[in-house]
Amino acid sequence: MRRLHRPPCPNPDALRTNYKHPENKNALLKASYGKCMYCESHVAHIYFGDVEHIRPKAEGKYPHLEFEWTNLGYCCARCNNAKKDQYDEMCSLIDPYTEDPSTHLLAFGTTVRHRAGSERGAITIATIELNRPELIERRAVRLNQLQHALDACYRTKSIAIREVLLTALEEEGNIDKEFSMFAAALIEANQRK
Ligand SMILES: [Zn+2]
Repeated sequence: MRRLHRPPCPNPDALRTNYKHPENKNALLKASYGKCMYCESHVAHIYFGDVEHIRPKAEGKYPHLEFEWTNLGYCCARCNNAKKDQYDEMCSLIDPYTEDPSTHLLAFGTTVRHRAGSERGAITIATIELNRPELIERRAVRLNQLQHALDACYRTKSIAIREVLLTALEEEGNIDKEFSMFAAALIEANQRK
């Protein structure tokens, strides 16, 4: 999970009656770089993701926030299904649009861990099932590819060429890349000072 910035709502009129109006949904999609706000899976090219209600719109929860822009995000169907209507105000799920998830979460190999003492980190991982087997597998594929590329860099004899290759590789940890949190951690762990 990475820090995201929600743009102003492009079509507030449509939002009053339709929380997933295509124009607004598209703005959310772009704001998370075509990825799920929670698990960082690229969802746009596989199937159309869901407009997520951070505070659930279900009856008895937060129905008054159904059409509230600041309560909307973009997420994959699997995270949406796992989360369902779970949300505890006393221990709220991490909202990447309003806070930096790295305060609570860290990438450790192919799994995401909560930072020591962070209850909100722990509850977020458990509720959204951020270490479900399918995610672990896909992160492993991504990290293995990155490891091969890093190997190639460090086996290059020319220091100048190595530096160029490494600089290019560092982009794999950028926020627009799938599972960037994990890629950035692997790159960081391999940095030789
Ligand atoms: Zn997801």
